[in-house]
Amino acid sequence: MSNDDVFKKLISHAKEYGFVFQSSEIYDGLSAVYDYGQFGAELKKNIKEYWWKSMVQFHENIVGIDAAIFMHPTTWKASGHVDAFNDPLIDNKDSKKRYRADVLVEDYLAKIEGKIEKEVKKAAKRFGDSFDREQFISTNPRVLGYKEKMETISKRLFGSLEKNDLSDVKALIEELEIACPISGSKNWTDVRQFNLMFSTQMGSLSEGSNQIFLRPETAQGIFANYLNVQKTGRMKVPFGIAQIGKAFRNEIVARQFIFRMREFEQMEMQFFVRPGEEMKWYDYWKEQRMKWHLSLGIPAEKYRWHDHEKLAHYANAACDIEFDFPFGFKELEGIHSRTDFDLSAHQKFSGKKLQYFDPELNESYVPYVVETSIGLDRTFLAVLSHAYNEEKLEGGAERVVLNIPPVLAPVKAAILPLLAKDGLPEKAREIMDELKYQFYCYYEEKDSIGKRYRRQDAIGTPFCITVDHDTLKDNTVTIRHRDTMKQERVQISSLIEIIGEKIKVSL
Ligand code: ATP
Repeated sequence: MSNDDVFKKLISHAKEYGFVFQSSEIYDGLSAVYDYGQFGAELKKNIKEYWWKSMVQFHENIVGIDAAIFMHPTTWKASGHVDAFNDPLIDNKDSKKRYRADVLVEDYLAKIEGKIEKEVKKAAKRFGDSFDREQFISTNPRVLGYKEKMETISKRLFGSLEKNDLSDVKALIEELEIACPISGSKNWTDVRQFNLMFSTQMGSLSEGSNQIFLRPETAQGIFANYLNVQKTGRMKVPFGIAQIGKAFRNEIVARQFIFRMREFEQMEMQFFVRPGEEMKWYDYWKEQRMKWHLSLGIPAEKYRWHDHEKLAHYANAACDIEFDFPFGFKELEGIHSRTDFDLSAHQKFSGKKLQYFDPELNESYVPYVVETSIGLDRTFLAVLSHAYNEEKLEGGAERVVLNIPPVLAPVKAAILPLLAKDGLPEKAREIMDELKYQFYCYYEEKDSIGKRYRRQDAIGTPFCITVDHDTLKDNTVTIRHRDTMKQERVQISSLIEIIGEKIKVSL
């Protein structure tokens, strides 16, 4: 099955089993806006909790806040978003489709990268066990040629974007003979800048309304509150402020399901450090964040680092953690050394001092900031796409199973009476009443036990607990493990411990 097919199946599975719905579907949907259904909302909540625990609960020097989506409009002038939060867009005159000019070039680069991978695969086959990937990549003339070509193209792209030389970006697209994927034509408009912020009006028109913005990132709510938190929490540098919340971007190319949405959620943490110590903390947070991803049990080869060549206006170092989505490696999380850019800008625009007095150094300064910024929806997609598996079972049967890490699974345990009679439902309800205060459980008595197991596999429930006639005699139940399908007989009284052990947050 091609990756495209897998992705399509994943999207329809997510809909069929109540994870993700298109927003306003009854009105034919709203482009790049999605709703989370009953199990999706649980999975999302569990991801948030996993992140929050690892950031806030496990770090004494990090606290969490919840800032408003609306902020004073000058915030976005100071942060640079009014002037610089733009994407270069280009239209194809024949298909009338709009693209991000930089993404067109990046897709072209990804194709060259695909060619390199093909060479590597071919050589690996040829050389067998003695194949050394690193050596091959650094010496094979064809691969070196591809790499040089990629470097020349990306240097030119980032150079032109940096200088805002949009006509050169167009020239590059023409020179590379990039065609519109829909019309196949190379009939392009000029490239122009497009600001991604959504705006609205605050106050009624008669009182004189003000244009305000829906925040395009959660970070500014942290910066604007940094002294409030530092003073009221008596925080000492280095310290962090974490936040989970909605962000809005009027994305030009909004596709790939929940990967790129116009309304999405971010989990961000700003870590305030002494000037000059930011690179130490940048490295520290890179390591910590990768550890967090790997702690979910998703294999390391699904992740890779990508260092930014073109740094944002606020950063002196930046990299992404990319994930191998069904459509290839793409950004999942950004780690940025933001210097004192934001706090200094807010100091300037607000006229208020945002300095910190460091009692150990006996001096005041504007702290530097290292940020970790991860998309909640992209994490959801990463977890879901890795979890989705179609398995062939002994005897020719098939099952679709979501091998979601148990700690994140929407439903932790399904309580299933073998039959809907003979007192089994009553006993199962008793177990449900005991467990539901600890874990999110699901009670079901309809259909054969096999069908019920399949339904739980399809939503990723790690444990099915079956109540049968023996249960009434000896207070034991069968517990079935989702991934192995193995069943064991256990005491009802040990269920909380068995399940609890498997869903511990362990970092
Ligand atoms: P991209 O290059 O993919 O547009 P970005 O570099 O603009 O992303 P950041 O500004 O660094 O993204 O935002 C931090 C994180 O927020 C990203 O790593 C991503 O996980 C998430 N994110 C950003 N834009 C979107 C979006 N439109 N939909 C869903 N998640 C997003």
